[in-house]
Amino acid sequence: MLHETNYALLVLMISLRYFFLAGITYFVFYRILRLKIVRLKIQQKFPMQKDYIREIKHSFLTILIFAGYAFLIFSDDFRSKTQIYDNFQEHSILYFFASIILAILIHDTYFYFMHRIMHHRLFFKHIHLIHHKSTNPNPFSSYSFHPSEAIIEGAVILVIVFTIPIHKIAIGLFLLFMILFNIYGHLGYELIPKKISNSALGKWINTATYHNVHHKNSKKNFGLYFTFWDRIFNTLEQKTPKE
Ligand SMILES: [Zn+2]
Ligand SMILES: [Zn+2]
Repeated sequence: MLHETNYALLVLMISLRYFFLAGITYFVFYRILRLKIVRLKIQQKFPMQKDYIREIKHSFLTILIFAGYAFLIFSDDFRSKTQIYDNFQEHSILYFFASIILAILIHDTYFYFMHRIMHHRLFFKHIHLIHHKSTNPNPFSSYSFHPSEAIIEGAVILVIVFTIPIHKIAIGLFLLFMILFNIYGHLGYELIPKKISNSALGKWINTATYHNVHHKNSKKNFGLYFTFWDRIFNTLEQKTPKE
């Protein structure tokens, strides 16, 4: 049972998941394919070795904090106060999938507003600057946060487990989606064809290009999964960053 596992094991599991997914993505896109798919590269330059070292160091600190949240929400005392459920009979299978979508929508909203606040001059330098040191994002930028940002980022899980009933497997699937989307957002290559991202439905999806623009021009594109909030608050910039 996950809630019986200890903190060290959680750190190991989260590290393996992150470094496996970010590592394999890096290996495929930055080593094997690298120049073969240069037309998909958002910025033509590649990050320097010191960027990867800084990002991996901060990613590990982020993992220590995220493991702390996992330990907290799966510890019996805390968990009993949340809406996490174990028994599939408690809610329909339809709700199981709906809860994952709800978690994604909650996260998207939480992220947009938290992100805009972190860009306020009072907080930017102390909290969010580390993430923005990656002006040319790559898979290892995904978890490259100052520890105080990691605490704020990770707190979304508390919002979710206190707001909606959610099965522990749904939490796992939501977190898997979160990390995969995050790696895509920082990929540095655009995988979604323009035809799709400009379509009536596709235009609501946030893209690696939009987030890349954010890393270059930090006054636009604060969204995570969707462009809803950026469109509502007129903070969407679709032009690709200049080198
Ligand atoms: Zn980013
Ligand atoms: Zn930012």
